Amino acid sequence: VKINPHSHRSDPTTLVVIRSFSVEEEIELQKNESFCVGAHPWNIEKFPIDWCEQLKIKLQHPKCLALGEVGLDLAIKTPLKTQQHMMQMALEQIEQTSIKRVVLHVVRAHNEVYAIVKKYPHLKFFLHDYQGNLQETQQWMKLNVMFSFSPRLILKNEKLQAVFQSIDQYHKTLETDDFATSINDFANQVKQQFHIGDAQIKQMGENALSFYFD
Ligand SMILES: [Zn+2]
Repeated sequence: VKINPHSHRSDPTTLVVIRSFSVEEEIELQKNESFCVGAHPWNIEKFPIDWCEQLKIKLQHPKCLALGEVGLDLAIKTPLKTQQHMMQMALEQIEQTSIKRVVLHVVRAHNEVYAIVKKYPHLKFFLHDYQGNLQETQQWMKLNVMFSFSPRLILKNEKLQAVFQSIDQYHKTLETDDFATSINDFANQVKQQFHIGDAQIKQMGENALSFYFD
């Protein structure tokens, strides 16, 4: 899964692609490429027996920026208990590394994910493809989080759009991930929908970069 924050450091069309690997995947990097490695709840059945050890080793790679994706997904068949256990174990692996960032996959499991991550107030969290409601958003704001919106923001309902508007410009960003929309098209749609200017779009690109690189 890739996260494509819109960036403007050099020009407005610059695209930052940070790939997330799941622990069982082989990590083959381009020159100078940074990455994330996690234990994706969709892939639990494919995890090798020694996945914790493998995850810890991969997290210590000099180009590894974050643990992710990890999280909980109530739309899949894998039991919640199993997913919670795996997520806890994955988070424990970063305790012995210098990693301070976590990319979260949250599907219909806000309370359950929050209950786990609130135990790690020293970490910062990237809420990828964010779909929470206003109340959940208020709760997340108690932690160090970056809300990342996918093209669902435009496609989906007005509730998510109200959530987007409730978040200040320094704590949200845009991603395209697996969607067919290009990041520039998405950014243009966001500008039109919310009547915001280039400066705010640029800020959201900077936010993603600062999450990963500061
Ligand atoms: Zn995800």
